[in-house]
Amino acid sequence: MKTLLIGEYREGKLLDTTYELFGFARQLGAETAMLLVGSASQLPACSGPLYLADASQCGEYSPDLHKQLILDAVQKENPDYIVFIHSSYGWDLAPRVATRLKAAQVSEVIGLSNNAFEVGCCNAKMRRTVKPATGKAVITIQAGAFPVLQPGGTPQVQTVTATAAGNLTFVGYEPAEAKDVDLAKAEVIVTAGRGVGKKENVPVIQALAKALGGELGASRPVVDAGWVEHSHQVGTTGQSVSPKLYIACGVSGAIQHLAGMKKSDFIVAINKDKDAPIGEIADVLVVADVLQFVPALTAKVSA
Ligand SMILES: Cc1cc2nc3c(=O)[nH]c(=O)nc-3n(C[C@H](O)[C@H](O)[C@H](O)COP(=O)(O)OP(=O)(O)OC[C@H]3O[C@@H](n4cnc5c(N)ncnc54)[C@H](O)[C@@H]3O)c2cc1C
Repeated sequence: MKTLLIGEYREGKLLDTTYELFGFARQLGAETAMLLVGSASQLPACSGPLYLADASQCGEYSPDLHKQLILDAVQKENPDYIVFIHSSYGWDLAPRVATRLKAAQVSEVIGLSNNAFEVGCCNAKMRRTVKPATGKAVITIQAGAFPVLQPGGTPQVQTVTATAAGNLTFVGYEPAEAKDVDLAKAEVIVTAGRGVGKKENVPVIQALAKALGGELGASRPVVDAGWVEHSHQVGTTGQSVSPKLYIACGVSGAIQHLAGMKKSDFIVAINKDKDAPIGEIADVLVVADVLQFVPALTAKVSA
């Protein structure tokens, strides 16, 4: 079985998520080849074929051109799967490539089972297993769902280029609007999950964040319910954070949340369910009711 992995490069840098593609391929037990529109000075540490197009010529993003580069590499490698990260780059390109190849497209894969792909459903509360009905398939994998794997070695670089004329021109990046909180810089984050119960309980979590000199984080349901502003959301559709201390209060540990915080140095989870998935990545799991435990901890910290 063979995969063509589509590496990611942005603002002059190879993105770390590129290594999650190797983690996916390893779990699949597949050979790898990679296509990267990037720079010879930022190559991934891997062996095997690497089709390298120069981003200064092909643009960091140009849908028609990048699609052409991928299709050329597919012709040379004849992979079973063409694999992207489920990022703005991947989710835009994957369907374009799949349409041209008349191949199945499976989005946001979070796991594997017997050569089939697990994807979330029912607002990520459940998983369903999908098996492509076509010989080739185009896959996007959820960031954070597969391990970061640096295979090591030196790639066999083949320089490629394309000249497809497109209707879209990449103009550049615009910085996001300034937010009231910058979680990316916080050393301590205390996050309120749905387990806090209601908006009126959020100050209990906020008080602990304040006592520790940290910031308030939130899971998506807490933001969707309007209990906390979106600028505090952690996860794939919120911010990615890596504080020294992350305290998750009433957070179950869905992949989309973990993807945004699992690089934290030390993770404490407070959950009344001893089997909550967040326990698998937490350094300490406190099995308790947040509304009892957190005020007691805040009082100790403030004493
Ligand atoms: C495309 C997509 C993108 C997403 N992006 C994000 C994202 O960026 N960030 C994000 O967070 N989610 C995201 N999600 C949603 C994600 O899948 C989960 O639904 C969400 O993370 C769950 O939030 P939660 O852990 O707060 O709530 P729940 O999953 O409902 O968990 C609540 C937890 O609280 C515990 N609990 C309940 N009461 C108490 C109590 N009194 N004391 C202690 N523990 C208690 C429960 O045991 C449970 O473990 C996304 C989903 C999709 C489909």
